[in-house]
Amino acid sequence: MSTSDGGLRRLHGRGACLQGKIVVAGPCSVESEQQIMEAAVQLGKQGISALRGGIWKPRTRPGSFQGIGEAALPWLKAAGKAAKLPVACEVAQPAHVDACLAHGIDILWIGARTTVNPFSVQALADRLRGVDLPVMVKNPVNPDLELWMGAIERLRRAGVTKIAAIHRGFSTARETIYRNEPIWRIPLELRRRMPEIPLICDPSHMGGTQELLKPLSQEALDLLFDGLMIEVHPHPNQAQSDRNQQITPTQLRSLLAKLKPKKELAVVRDYLRHMAELRKEVDSLDHQVLDGLSRRMEIVRQMSHYKEKYGTSSFQPHRWSEIIKDRTSYGTAHNLDQDFVLDVFEMIHEESIRQQEQENAVIPQKTAGRKRGQRVG
Ligand code: PEP
Ligand code: MN
Repeated sequence: MSTSDGGLRRLHGRGACLQGKIVVAGPCSVESEQQIMEAAVQLGKQGISALRGGIWKPRTRPGSFQGIGEAALPWLKAAGKAAKLPVACEVAQPAHVDACLAHGIDILWIGARTTVNPFSVQALADRLRGVDLPVMVKNPVNPDLELWMGAIERLRRAGVTKIAAIHRGFSTARETIYRNEPIWRIPLELRRRMPEIPLICDPSHMGGTQELLKPLSQEALDLLFDGLMIEVHPHPNQAQSDRNQQITPTQLRSLLAKLKPKKELAVVRDYLRHMAELRKEVDSLDHQVLDGLSRRMEIVRQMSHYKEKYGTSSFQPHRWSEIIKDRTSYGTAHNLDQDFVLDVFEMIHEESIRQQEQENAVIPQKTAGRKRGQRVG
C-alpha cells in the first residue's frame, strides 16, 4: 500500500466500510436531482469515502444520453452535502474544470478517453494550476503505461499534489469476458514506479456486468489496491448509461461485506517458515527457466548461421505454427492456461527472431533493455 493518501482518504469517510480502503461509489451518470439524492442518502449511511456522478458523459456513439451537463452539478453537490460525502465528477475539458470549481465539486477525475490524449490532459493540467483539488486519473483506454504516467506527470508539473490512479481495464482486440481487460501487470508496474500514488480499481467498467464486480474487486484487494470505484444506481434497470454494470446501494453493502482486504505481510512463524521454503523453490525454478531460455537462444543463434548460409528466412511460418500447436497442447496438458502459453511463446519467438537478425548484423546491437508496455512518443 502506498504511504500517501492522495488527499482522498483525508477528505471523508476513510473507507470505513472496507477497512481503511478508499471507496468511491455512485451512478455512472447524474440523471435527475431525485436519482442522485436517493443514491447519496443510501450510500452516506455506508461509510463510503466519496460520491461519484458523471455530468458530461463520453459516450461511444452520438444520439445516446450524453449527461445532463452543468445543470446537474448543483444536484450532485446538494446530494453530497445531504449525505456528508465529498463529491467526484469527471472532467474532460477546461470548461468542465471551471464549472466544477464554481459548484464546489470536491474531487475530479479524468476519464480513460481523455487520459489517452496528451493535449487534453495538458489543457486540464493548465487549468488546474494553483487549484490543487484531488484528481483521480483513469488509465488510458489502450494498454500504455507511459501514457498513464505521462498524464500524472502533467498534473504534477502543474502543481497538483493530490493524485490517485484508477485502473479501469484496457480495450483490446482479443475476445475476453471483460468489457475492458484488466492486464494487472500494468497497474502493478505503475505502483512499482510511482509507489506514492494511491491505486484504485474500477471493477464496474472493467467487468461491464454486475456478476464480475465481486471477483474483480477481490482480485484488486489481493493485489493490494488502495480502494475501489463502483457504479451504484438506486434503480440500475432504469439507468441511462452503463445499465448492465450498476448495482443498488443495498447490493453494494452486501458486496463490500463479502470482500476481504489483504495485507502484504504476516509476522507469524508458521507463515514465514513455509513462505521461505516455497520461495526458495520458486527462485530455483525461475533460474532453471532462465537457463533454459539462455540455452535456447544460443541454439537459435547457431541456426541463424545456416539460415544465412542457405538464404532462408529467420521467420519460418510452418515451424512457428508447429511450435504454437505443440507448446499450447503441452502447456494445457500441464495445467497452464492456453493464452498464457501463447503470450509467453510469442515473446520468446520475437526475441529469437531478434537475436537471429542481430547475429547476422541485420539489426544493430541492443544497448538498453526494452521495458514492456513502454512506448515513448
Ligand atoms: C465513467 O466512469 O463513467 C466512465 C466514463 O469511465 P471510463 O472513463 O473508465 O470509461
Ligand atoms: Mn459508466
